[in-house]
Amino acid sequence: MKIALVGNQNSGKTTLFNLLTGSNQKIGNWPGVTIEQKSGIIKCTDNCELVDLPGIYSLSPYTLEEDISRKFVYNEKLDLIINIIDVTSIERSLYLTTQLMELDTPIVVVLNMIDNLSKKGITIDTAKLAKRLGVDVFAVSALKSTGIDELLEYIRKGEFLHSDIHTYDAFIEEHIHEIEKMQTGVHKRFAAVKMLENDSLVKKASPEVQSIQKELIDRYGTDVEEIIAAGRYDFIQNVKEDCVTFKPMQTSISDKLDKVFLNKWAAIPIFVAIMAAMYVLSVGVVGGLTVDLIGEGIDGLGAIVGEWLADIGASAWAVSLVVDGMFAGVGAVLSFVPQLMILFLCIAILETSGYMSRIAFVLDRIFRKIGLSGKALIPFIIGSGCSVPAIMTTRTIEDEQERRMSIILTPFIPCSAKLPIIALFTGFFFDKYAGLVSVSLYFLAIIIIVVSAVLMRKLVFKNKPNTFISELPEFKFPNVKFVLKDVLDKTLEFIKRAGSIILVSSVVIWFLLSFDWSFNYGVGVDKSILGGIGYALAWIFYPILGVYSPMATVSAIQGIIAKEQVVSSMTIIAGLSGVAGEASAIFNSSVFSFFTPASAFAFMAFNLFSVPCISAIAAMGRELGSKRRLFGAIVFQTGIAWVIAVLIRFAVLALGG
Ligand code: GDP
Ligand code: MG
Repeated sequence: MKIALVGNQNSGKTTLFNLLTGSNQKIGNWPGVTIEQKSGIIKCTDNCELVDLPGIYSLSPYTLEEDISRKFVYNEKLDLIINIIDVTSIERSLYLTTQLMELDTPIVVVLNMIDNLSKKGITIDTAKLAKRLGVDVFAVSALKSTGIDELLEYIRKGEFLHSDIHTYDAFIEEHIHEIEKMQTGVHKRFAAVKMLENDSLVKKASPEVQSIQKELIDRYGTDVEEIIAAGRYDFIQNVKEDCVTFKPMQTSISDKLDKVFLNKWAAIPIFVAIMAAMYVLSVGVVGGLTVDLIGEGIDGLGAIVGEWLADIGASAWAVSLVVDGMFAGVGAVLSFVPQLMILFLCIAILETSGYMSRIAFVLDRIFRKIGLSGKALIPFIIGSGCSVPAIMTTRTIEDEQERRMSIILTPFIPCSAKLPIIALFTGFFFDKYAGLVSVSLYFLAIIIIVVSAVLMRKLVFKNKPNTFISELPEFKFPNVKFVLKDVLDKTLEFIKRAGSIILVSSVVIWFLLSFDWSFNYGVGVDKSILGGIGYALAWIFYPILGVYSPMATVSAIQGIIAKEQVVSSMTIIAGLSGVAGEASAIFNSSVFSFFTPASAFAFMAFNLFSVPCISAIAAMGRELGSKRRLFGAIVFQTGIAWVIAVLIRFAVLALGG
């Protein structure tokens, strides 16, 4: 036996598929495309194959997913189609059902998510629905795995019903019947409707069919496709009135909150305000209080350790390695921990309270205009923590092109490791306005994403997005334990990076800065190995900085290892050039004293928007699934960053900054 599982996106297909097949699964691709094909053997039998079709809303030819699914149900010899329906959006789902009913294949309708029904005050008369559709209907919850045994038993018995219910009015039905009689082969009714609709799946309409089309057009005054669609919707409306009852529910607190948060006018200003408050609080207020304090503390500790090392007879270079390399590099990054914790805390609260899914829902309409869906927002917001998990969450986006776009766009969002860069530069150059400038960078990121998305849709990814967000979780009070654990995990992860990647690269940087090509120690930063590399590449950054700065150049390049390394590197360089102390002292050092507000803003922007760090590059590579695409993404990101940075510098200069 062969059975296909057909339903809308997010109707619970995969969840039901896993329940019905257990671990007995085979995963491959549909021929010629990268859309995943999953098949498995149903538990209750030993020879019944179940195929999970891509999520679709209709059997038309408009998307790749629809095309795959309709060819499959039309050409394969199937014993049964399991049509899974999200019971809370029954109207939209039945549109597909009415199309499936036209096939010769037996159907069983599975109403999924019945656990959500009572919450919404909906009741459904399944017996009546079965009668109206002319097929068997089961009510299940794939998530809670209720009703599944009955469904398995039904499949085992193998007595399936083919619907002989007619969907359209008598006039249309009569004509469909005429065309049906002209068909040869299987699925005559389905083919007849498709022929009427001029669908490329079947042969072109013959002159007789064309005259029928004309008759219909004359009578209904619109094109055939619309006549058919309207016929289906009338039928669905009718069935729904017959079988579904809504009882008005008390509005919950969550609903009341939604009146505000989902309000057409208020939703986006509220979102902007929340984001701005989050950054002003973490970078501005908390950052202002803690960065210098912790920086001085770590420097003090470094000095004590340095003295102690000198006392026990360590050589000058060893003391320098520990003080100027390790303590300076790691310390520069650790001083940003408190403000990061605040940022992590805000994000965790927004996520667990249900706000994040709401703003994704609100922005869905807007995102659609630039060729993304609201679903892409989740990686963007998680990306303000770290691009790596953010890139991984793009897996929830079903549309392949949209997924790839989101993977490439996510690193533009300033992640937490970029926060030290923002905090360092804004803190020194923009003083009172540090919080505001930080926020402006966040919105600059959004603008870059919008422009890039539009460009990508024009040049590379030309399909229209077709994922929808339909369900919103209830607003709920964040779980304190979960939030705290999340903040702690992320903070520890950040500190661990400081202790590993940053420590190692700080030591390497110290080495490259302290020795020249013939391994002489203490040659001065200018003549060091890294200095040489910087001199060779400084021209790249000339338009951004307005000067040739080998040291800023090498610092920016180190951002590829880890973004916070930019700050570590600058601190080490300033330290070795004779200016030690807290992070902001960097700009008093002769190597970096050339920075002006304009070049600071531009340099910061380049670091934020160019290639992400090596871990994020690896994640991008994994998710994009091809070296060529990864290379394209890296070139694209860095190119955009360079252009933006140059534009910013000239813009700020023009404004007199
Ligand atoms: P697919 O896109 O059709 O493959 O849908 P999935 O199986 O991935 O499910 C989409 C979402 O709906 C997931 O978050 C599931 O956990 C959820 N879901 C699936 N079945 C049920 C159910 O019976 N009840 C509820 N409340 N949620 C469900
Ligand atoms: Mg799925």
